[in-house]
Amino acid sequence: MNIALIAHDKKKDDIVKIAKAYQLILEKHELYATGTTGKRIMDETGLDLHRFKSGPLGGDQQIGAYISDNKMDLVIFLRDPLTSQAHEPDISALLRLCDVYEIPLATNMGSAEVLLRGLQAGFYGWRDITRGTERESLHF
Ligand code: PGA
Repeated sequence: MNIALIAHDKKKDDIVKIAKAYQLILEKHELYATGTTGKRIMDETGLDLHRFKSGPLGGDQQIGAYISDNKMDLVIFLRDPLTSQAHEPDISALLRLCDVYEIPLATNMGSAEVLLRGLQAGFYGWRDITRGTERESLHF
């Protein structure tokens, strides 16, 4: 599975905690992250991941492009709900695309834990069927 990890600045400690707690699960998958989040995770866990640009510099849009190509299977985006972000339109666009493509999305630690435990439990088999399928031809 292709997994995107993103965290706003005040949530970066939390995403590192998640990455450490679920490292044994995450290391079995292809990991992608926005620039600064990815650097923190790599430095503090040793996990290998592909780093896109920093979110405010286009990283959220790069992840969005993967989603629109139906190449992302799970998105963990720890948003800071108490701080306004200069790149709010990019954030909204990314969240919207997750809904357009039915991609599981966690925006806080609680839902991230549930989705990662679901991944471990094998709940994502349906993505093997829908991945690479054009959105227009998906039937649910
Ligand atoms: P960052 O981007 O990982 O480069 O900080 C995250 C974001 O703000 O979207």
